[in-house]
Amino acid sequence: MGSSGYIGRFAPSPTGRLHMGSLLAAVASWCDARHCGGTWLVRMEDLDPPREVKGSAQDILDTLVALGLHWDGPVVWQSKRASRYEDALCDLESQSRVYACCCTRRELAGQAVYPGNCREGLPHGKEGRLKRFRMEEGHVEWEDLVLGGMSMNPLALGDFPVLRADGFWAYQLAVVVDDMEQGITHVIRGADLLDSTPRQMQIWTALTAERGGVQRSVPVYGHVPIVQNEWGQKLSKQTLAQPVRIDSAAAQILQALKWLNQDTQDDRLLRCAQENQPAATLARAAELWDRSAIPQAPIQWQGGQLG
Ligand code: GLU
Repeated sequence: MGSSGYIGRFAPSPTGRLHMGSLLAAVASWCDARHCGGTWLVRMEDLDPPREVKGSAQDILDTLVALGLHWDGPVVWQSKRASRYEDALCDLESQSRVYACCCTRRELAGQAVYPGNCREGLPHGKEGRLKRFRMEEGHVEWEDLVLGGMSMNPLALGDFPVLRADGFWAYQLAVVVDDMEQGITHVIRGADLLDSTPRQMQIWTALTAERGGVQRSVPVYGHVPIVQNEWGQKLSKQTLAQPVRIDSAAAQILQALKWLNQDTQDDRLLRCAQENQPAATLARAAELWDRSAIPQAPIQWQGGQLG
């Protein structure tokens, strides 16, 4: 484990196998943590049983190992942490940052932002179906490690669920509770999660206030580009992205490093990659790592085989 105080993490959802888009985030957060002498944790975000693909959690972990993306400490499984989310919900409720909402998806169809129907209380005779977090006014600002100075209007994002109508915990709450408890200092993840950052920063600040302000400060965030397929769609399980191939592990790592605009001409790095030694390739990549070179624009991948 690192001794620099840096704690990073990779937090996959077990909704399918690891693809090149998620590998990019994993490689970036691993290299950044290792370059800074930090710790790198893995947390399995298995909070959504309806979307979970059986066997994919173990498959993702096996793939990380085969790729040489070794983590520190035990894997944290969100499905085992319900009582922590319960506590956090109580804290937020005691500050009136969470309210009961009766709106159904059908009633909200076509509305990009929650219109606040239940913000001032449930309509007469209605029962709450889910719990929603109340976003506060005032631009949320952060210095993104990749994108630079960011400023987002939280009201343009709207209030969002923290406890879903089907009884499952929502991603936004669980992530903050866990990042806080695991002492995460640096969150490097895909730019598809950019809108989540102001939400998570507001939850973080609210929980910190409730717990006497002694908790850790909000992590530093860095959002790496998403990878798009030849049709301009984000690589994802929904767009049927091909899983990462572990038989050519080092070639896939090298591709991720190229997309991250890192030095891939280094002799030692190339030798390790040619010999298909993913762990050694990564170790060299972490030495050479240059966070400031990471591109901001989405990466266009014309498909085809790697390695
Ligand atoms: N579990 C989320 C996902 O797979 C990522 C969470 C995060 O990095 O904050 O998309």
